[in-house]
Amino acid sequence: MVEAHGVGLAAPQVGVDLRLAVIDISHDPESVSYFKVNGEDADLVACMPLVFINPEIEFGQEKEWSQEGCLSIQGIRAEIRRPAEVKAILPQLDGSVLVVETDGLLSRALQHEIDHLNGVLFTDRLPAASKVAMKNRLKRLLSENTE
Ligand SMILES: [Zn+2]
Repeated sequence: MVEAHGVGLAAPQVGVDLRLAVIDISHDPESVSYFKVNGEDADLVACMPLVFINPEIEFGQEKEWSQEGCLSIQGIRAEIRRPAEVKAILPQLDGSVLVVETDGLLSRALQHEIDHLNGVLFTDRLPAASKVAMKNRLKRLLSENTE
């Protein structure tokens, strides 16, 4: 994940049938405007990598566009509209639970990885017109890779 400059990876992406994911945005702590753990301001870099199982997520009202890519669909990036802020309940491997409230890149990464655990790819969230363009790009990528 780090080698491919990814910020997150979910177990199903590597063929593991678990509701587990890892996120690391420690290279870009400025990308969030706030980060709370269990209701209190916390040190984002110290909490990375964030590993969790069986997460639950709640969304803020406001939505924003931002570019996303995915280690499972290399070579494709697209603007996706998602809620700006989230509150995520993240059970830890040791049985404790982190309640994380944040925005920016971490909010985006949490939504993206939790989507993976539910079998949803970011391309599923594209507007219909973009999906057609994306399908053509995917076809082209596929033929390039098999030549
Ligand atoms: Zn992904």
